[in-house]
Amino acid sequence: MILSDFVNGIEESVTLAAAAKAKELKAAGHDVLILTVGEPDFPTPTNINTAAKKAIDTGKTSFYTPASGLPELKKAVNKYFEDFYGYSVSPKEVIVTSGAKFAIYAFFMSVLNKGDEVIIPTPYWVSYSDQVKMASGVPVFVEGRQENDFKVTLEQVEAARTDKTKVLLINSPSNPSGMIYTEEELRELGNWAVEHNILILSDDIYHRLVYNGSKTTMISTISDEIRKQTIVINGLSKSYSMTGWRIGFATGNPEIIAAMAKIASQTTSNPTAVAQYAAIEAINGDQSVVDAMRGRFEERLNTIYPILNEIPGIEVVKPQGAFYLFPNVKGAMEMTGYDNVTDFTDALLEKEGVALVTGDGFGAPENVRLSYATDMYTILEALDRIKRFIENNT
Ligand code: PLP
Repeated sequence: MILSDFVNGIEESVTLAAAAKAKELKAAGHDVLILTVGEPDFPTPTNINTAAKKAIDTGKTSFYTPASGLPELKKAVNKYFEDFYGYSVSPKEVIVTSGAKFAIYAFFMSVLNKGDEVIIPTPYWVSYSDQVKMASGVPVFVEGRQENDFKVTLEQVEAARTDKTKVLLINSPSNPSGMIYTEEELRELGNWAVEHNILILSDDIYHRLVYNGSKTTMISTISDEIRKQTIVINGLSKSYSMTGWRIGFATGNPEIIAAMAKIASQTTSNPTAVAQYAAIEAINGDQSVVDAMRGRFEERLNTIYPILNEIPGIEVVKPQGAFYLFPNVKGAMEMTGYDNVTDFTDALLEKEGVALVTGDGFGAPENVRLSYATDMYTILEALDRIKRFIENNT
């Protein structure tokens, strides 16, 4: 066998794989509407691009930066925390990474011993569980039920706790459900983690993409005790439409941050220098474009949610944030005679050219994920086709 047991034991990211498959079909000339993507469809704001061009023109390209990021960018991250979290982070409490995804990986590699357990509320972003496994840990799934807005309760996490529990993962607003934990819910979970000395990994990457007056609380802002127990993950991909630049960051306990920097120093070395200069401008520069992009997502959500909700066999909770809808399609599967969500989405792609991501990779085998990070025409046409697919095959 040429491949390692390690790599055979993990899965490719289902979202990236679904997006690649849809893009391939489209490139081959098929009429495909792509609702698989996790990347905003807006261009990166011009001031950010200009800062990157200036970095290139002034030679900021021929050196490694510190593994944990440029000091000026750490300063900008501190400003970000002062603006949005209401507290400061010193340079030792900050690492800038090649995307938030790498920050999460470096965190698991830094804190997990073989067999340590990570509580992951479902439905969950696809990479968490495989990253835990890559770090020799064990993912422990706790079901966020649709009737509870896809959120887990204190009783559920307590029932999952063992003497191996090392980390509780929180992702609010959530990918894929778009739901937000209230301050009270987070306080309960945070105090529970402090009481049992369990680390919290708070993935806040969608915290600025919230709609219709919803409010996000970040768990690290609730109390000093909870903050000390929490590593915060954030990044620029979603809010600033900078997915391709690969800039994320993590903040928290300096000992863990230093360990993460050690992992980075032996793997990526540092995030691309030019992208770091672009990131400084993103955080310090004009934020009005970011607010405008949020407004566009909100408009789309409010237009498409009622239409999706009317389609027979589909049950959907209205999300409060992120840019996904995560409907339960059990009824539609029964009506069309498919007994699993992969066959259902494959048939939808083949017959109507609509590409969605199946929910099973997120731990929810009766659901599908539709991204509305695409233009309104594509989304509305896709909803028409989904309706037609269910009606024609019933
Ligand atoms: N966390 C969540 C919940 C995500 O949805 C994503 C991207 O899809 C990431 C982290 C990773 O983002 P980045 O592009 O910064 O690696």
